[in-house]
Amino acid sequence: MPKHLPSKTTETLLKKINIMYSDPFPGNSPPCINNFFSLIFANLMTPQTVAFNTLGCKLNFSETSTIGRQFTRAGYTTVPFDEAADVYVINTCSVTDFADKKCRQIVRRALKTAPDAFVIVTGCYAQLKPDEIAEIPGVDLVMGAGEKFKILDYLDDLKKLPGKGVVHAGQINTVNTFENAFSFGDRTRSFLKVQDGCSYKCTFCTIPQARGASRSNTIESILQNAQEIARLGAKEIILTGVNIGDFGNGTEVIDGIRPKKEALFIDLIKELDQVEGIERYRISSIEPNLLTKEIIEFVAQSKRFMPHFHIPLQSGNNRILKEMKRRYKRELFAERVATIKKVMPHACIGVDVIVGFPGETEADFKDTYRFIQDLDVSYLHVFTYSERPNTPAIDMDGRVPMEERRARNQMLRILSEKKRAAFYSTFEGQKLEVLVENSKKEGKLTGFTKNYIKVELAQGSASVNDLVPVQLGRFTGNNTMPAVTLSPSNV
Ligand code: SF4
Repeated sequence: MPKHLPSKTTETLLKKINIMYSDPFPGNSPPCINNFFSLIFANLMTPQTVAFNTLGCKLNFSETSTIGRQFTRAGYTTVPFDEAADVYVINTCSVTDFADKKCRQIVRRALKTAPDAFVIVTGCYAQLKPDEIAEIPGVDLVMGAGEKFKILDYLDDLKKLPGKGVVHAGQINTVNTFENAFSFGDRTRSFLKVQDGCSYKCTFCTIPQARGASRSNTIESILQNAQEIARLGAKEIILTGVNIGDFGNGTEVIDGIRPKKEALFIDLIKELDQVEGIERYRISSIEPNLLTKEIIEFVAQSKRFMPHFHIPLQSGNNRILKEMKRRYKRELFAERVATIKKVMPHACIGVDVIVGFPGETEADFKDTYRFIQDLDVSYLHVFTYSERPNTPAIDMDGRVPMEERRARNQMLRILSEKKRAAFYSTFEGQKLEVLVENSKKEGKLTGFTKNYIKVELAQGSASVNDLVPVQLGRFTGNNTMPAVTLSPSNV
């Protein structure tokens, strides 16, 4: 019997066995040893169900997927979150606005579908506010950062008890191990975790409190994961982490503070580039100070690392960058973008920006706006600053009214659309390769080119998970280019 066979299943099984053997002649057929084993087998083959809901970043998705595989190995069947399940696992995010409200809504949704289900909440928000989450009606178990991969150890009894949920969340400064994770099966691309935590001290950020200090997986273990992902059939891997450029002791080496102690991010990507079966890699997001010329030049000559970068800028004003305790000035950022474009003119560059940080005047914001306007980047992810407890920024002067923050956000979103339109339009009519994915739109397929242009194809013109040549049509908005598939000889 599997170690974690849920107790309800065990109870039911024992009851049935009891009935069989207390009644010597049930019906006309006497009990036999074959019935006994087929009953055990049938029960083991009809395990309990679990459903997952993930909030936040690619790292969370890689971890949920890994927790999902633990449940599968223990005999559970995963069902969609809107279906009735015996256990619901909610993997939360601390960056999400109104994390508390969202968590409550999701717990309510789960219990509306299955009122007796056992509800577990884990992830960054669970680490930051475990007691608050334990008070949410219907939550049974709260698991912190150090405990999230041990959920099954706590599932001996799935009975819902009255009162608040049980909390297992240790101090974050004791979390120093690296837990392997990658996603597979829930989408075409696989998210592979290579690093966790962050030792920077950006004044707006709660991630170090939720995920702990920076730590990395070994190259050997990452290569094994990549080989496993290739064996499972995924063709594209997205390397994820909190501060992946810090892989090894990247920051100290790049800043010249300490000698190289272990393999750095550049060493990792050189090794991954050799893994057979993986056709594409993307680097999810990398701090500008850690995106070295060596990394950029390696990506430029690699056939597997895609010409696509996502770099957090946060502000285009040097005074605000200093207040945020970011580790670069805008000049360094502009220089990194120029280097990428020099060696990969076709590269896609995405940029994160925060608007409304305390003390950001209208003039500071205009500074940021004009700086980004002049940058050769392809799209923006715009975040409205929101106060987070236990961060230095919450006590800073110069709070920007929420209405003003929203207006600034809107201006940058419009700028992002213009940037994307300009980037996409450059490739109209070109023949490029796309990795085909499912689309939410009926009758359509979707996919991304190497340089992250999102295309839309007619259903039936290609198969999901195929790399196919396409010809792009005219860009008409909606962040997507229409495209038609070509036969390989047409490329
Ligand atoms: S680099 Fe800064 S913003 Fe990013 S996770 Fe670390 S502390 Fe947070």
